[in-house]
Amino acid sequence: MKKYILLNSKLLASFLIFGSLVFVQSSINYANAKVISSVKPIGFITEAIASGVTDTGILLPDGASPHTYYLKPSDLAKLKSADLVIWVGEDMEVFMPTVLKSIDRKKQIELMSVPEIKSLLRTSHDENEHEDTHSHDLINQDHHHHHHNHGEYDEHIWLSPKIAKIIAQSIHDKLVTLYPDKSTLIDENLNEFIINLTETEQNIAKKLITVQNRGYFVFHDAYGYFETQFGLKNLGSFTINPAVQPGVQKVYAIQQELKEHQAVCVFREPQFSPAVIEKLVNGTNVRIGELNPLGTGIALSKDAYSQFLSKLTQQLLDCLDKN
Ligand SMILES: [Zn+2]
Repeated sequence: MKKYILLNSKLLASFLIFGSLVFVQSSINYANAKVISSVKPIGFITEAIASGVTDTGILLPDGASPHTYYLKPSDLAKLKSADLVIWVGEDMEVFMPTVLKSIDRKKQIELMSVPEIKSLLRTSHDENEHEDTHSHDLINQDHHHHHHNHGEYDEHIWLSPKIAKIIAQSIHDKLVTLYPDKSTLIDENLNEFIINLTETEQNIAKKLITVQNRGYFVFHDAYGYFETQFGLKNLGSFTINPAVQPGVQKVYAIQQELKEHQAVCVFREPQFSPAVIEKLVNGTNVRIGELNPLGTGIALSKDAYSQFLSKLTQQLLDCLDKN
């Protein structure tokens, strides 16, 4: 009996030590990451280019939406100790501009201001988007929602494989100036990324061609670049801001639209309560699918960006490719 207890507490102690070591280790890694990307899919592209060159990290926790995020004190420390901060733009990450004022412009890439990206941007509004919420009007520090802004252009640029290649090129160019002695490796990483992504794009195009005539609605107007590139039939989006659920009148209007346009699917995102969606499709043949625009659950690796796009493709097929 005594022996058992002893062993048990020893085991417990070693678990505790192991646990705290793991904790310390992971927090050190994070704080030490020299290149920080704001959202996860941008972090995937960054890792592909910086692999073997320097440590990379992602600012937002897995699954956190840039539309509703607020910076923590530990985030400020991460940003200030980084060699480079890569972010999308002030309409996507409204929490970024203030903190970045105290960080050297040379240590930042604001992707929306890269000229080659600017020329590929799509405008962010179409006629289905009545429920627009602009953070300029609605920022309210007491309520951690309504913190969403869509500017003139669609800032969900990580959902464009075409723009992803330019993002990769911009990160490459910056890393070469920061780590000139590693320029050969950075070049190789870029080449590999472009080749892999081109292959992934071809595979996705082949798969999605079968569902190009299947209309669907989305709850968050985030997928425009991807839909345009692969010829998908997005019939509309019900909200721009995934943090705001539609009201009763809106639900009725959505049901009418689903019937009128003979939609096959409605895609939710993980943060939507299934109950709301069930109510919407009640009495129709419309199926419910799920899309994840942030690569939640995908581990950071050289290949993660392609994995992210492939997973999104599979999620589309899971709902659209049925009779
Ligand atoms: Zn959005």
